[in-house]
Formats: sequence, C-alpha cells, structure tokens
Amino acid sequence: MCGVYIHIPFCQSRCQYCDFFSTTELSRRKEYVNALLAEWQERQIAPSEISTVYIGGGTPSLLDPQDIARIVNALLGKDTGGTNATREITLEANPGDLTIEKLVALREAGINRLSIGIQSFDDRLLRLIGRRHTAAQAREVVCQSQEAGFDNISIDLMYGLPTQTMDEWTATIDEALRLQVQHLSAYCLTYEENTPLHKRMMSGEFDEVDEDTENTMNDVLCAKLRAKGFEHYEVSNFALPGYRSRHNSAYWNDIAYIGLGAGAHSYDGRIRSWNIANLNEYISLAMAHNLHRDSETLTEEQKRMEYIMLGMRTKEGIVLDGKRIVPTEQDWHVLNRIIEQLI
Ligand code: SF4
Repeated sequence: MCGVYIHIPFCQSRCQYCDFFSTTELSRRKEYVNALLAEWQERQIAPSEISTVYIGGGTPSLLDPQDIARIVNALLGKDTGGTNATREITLEANPGDLTIEKLVALREAGINRLSIGIQSFDDRLLRLIGRRHTAAQAREVVCQSQEAGFDNISIDLMYGLPTQTMDEWTATIDEALRLQVQHLSAYCLTYEENTPLHKRMMSGEFDEVDEDTENTMNDVLCAKLRAKGFEHYEVSNFALPGYRSRHNSAYWNDIAYIGLGAGAHSYDGRIRSWNIANLNEYISLAMAHNLHRDSETLTEEQKRMEYIMLGMRTKEGIVLDGKRIVPTEQDWHVLNRIIEQLI
C-alpha cells in the first residue's frame, strides 16, 4: 500500500514568505490535470494499492471540482460511497476559493478531509504576510465546510509572524478552537532567503520575533490544545483522537509514497525521485509520456539519519539499539531550531 501525493502548483498570488514551487499562471489548469492523468496512466497502480490521497500545493482549491473528481476517479474509480469512504482523501484549500456550492461538489468528488490554510485570524497580520483572505472569510469557510458535511477538517496556523504579539497569537488559537476542527498544524515562520518577507526584514522594516517568544508561543499553543483534548502527535501537528493525518504520518514512518505533478517527489523505501519543477515542461513531457525523474538512492547511513530525524518529530519517537527514545516538547523546541538551520 502507498500514499499518493498530487501537486497542484497554482496560486492566485504569491504569499510574502513562500518559497514553494508554484505559479500564478492559472490558464493551464485543465491541461495540467490532463498531464497528471497521463502521468498516472504510466504508473499502472491499482486502486487497491492506494491507502491515502493528498492533493496539495500550491492551491488545489483553485481547480474546478469537476477536475478534482477526474483526478480522484482516475486514481480510485468512482466508488466514493464504498472503499473510498474509508480512505483518507485530503484537499488543501485556501479560504478565499471556497463557497458552499464548491464544498458540496468537492464532497461529491470524493474529498473527505480538508486542510485549510488559515495561518491567522488577525487581518493586520494576514495582510502583512500577503495572504489574500480575511479572518471573516476563514471563519465562514470552516462553518460552510461543516455544513457541507466535512467532519475531518484541519487548519494551518503560523506563529512568530513579524510584529505578532502574544495576545494576538492567543486570540488566534482561541478562535481556531471555537471552530471545533479535528486537526491543527502550527508552524513557526521561517524567513526563507529571497522571499519578499525576508527582504523586508533585512531592510529593517521589522525584526524577527526572538527565540524565547517563539518558544513561549509554542508552549501556549500546546497547553491550550492539550486542555481541549488534542494529542500533540508530531512536532507541528495536533489531532483529536482518531484524527491524525494518515497520509502525513506515512511520511514520518518511512512508508513509500508516489508523487504526481510538477516538482512532486516519490519514494519507494530506498530510492527518492522527483519530477521536473517547471509547469510548461512538465505538461509537455507528461502528455508525450516522456517524463524523466531525477533520483537518488539513499545509503544505509542516510536512511538511518532520516529515521532519526523523522522519528524524533513524532510522539512515538525512535528505537535505537533496542531502546525507545521518546522526545519531550523541549526536545522539539531544539529539533525545530535544527530543522530551521538545515532547510
Ligand atoms: S498559497 Fe501556499 S503555495 Fe501559494 S504562495 Fe501562498 S503559501 Fe505559497
């Protein structure tokens, strides 16, 4: 069994902090979906071998629900009421793109989990980091998702935003909890070089939030979520019982996955490979059934390092020399710093 990740590299506009591969060239969306389906045909994998599907980006909610349905049907067949109901099929979404009609259509297309990129419930901070939705839209879209029947909703939040105060962060967490979602991911902002936000920080427009404050923000988050019954199961992820992300958990547990789309990575337990991260070239190559993936074969030493780095991100930790090592939240503060230095 394996998870399938599908990369949708389109964004309406670029957020100030983002260095992911995505494009604001939206006109080729349909052709891109055709290319994804052509790539999938080449893979020749039966639906019974697929455990989870994650449609991420970029901004997958910019696709027409009919195109989402084409993707889900190509991978899994049309059985949305049967086997697919027990599979986790996630779509990443941005609040500005969703309406109640679109949400109903997404459910009909087979999507049963939403991961909504909210980041903050503070309009000033949302503007500062270049998000194109408002806090009101974010609230509304979670409520509409629930009305449309979604009962497995994750939201993404960010802390350590420039000029963000502890009160603003606490208010954002409280707002998220009021919305009664099942899963929450929270990331500390990192200033990636050459992003507009990094340039603004370097020009002196604002300072980075200091490390102690970031740690305190993380501690407040953990305490508030714990009090509401959330399990802190991975360094940046919290879930109510039974709602861990099954797709992402597979990454942390060294399970094989297949990546479809421009820039997407695949892993078979030993070899990691990746598609070309260029929209136009990806479409041409996939449609010509001529995709070439660059790859690397992990050595035993690399696999061991990955096992340690990924395993220590999880609540279950790792087993070394027959002994289980379980990370504390303090270890996770340190790990976060190491990861920030490495990426
Ligand atoms: S929506 Fe996501 S992928 Fe697109 S620019 Fe913003 S952070 Fe990056």
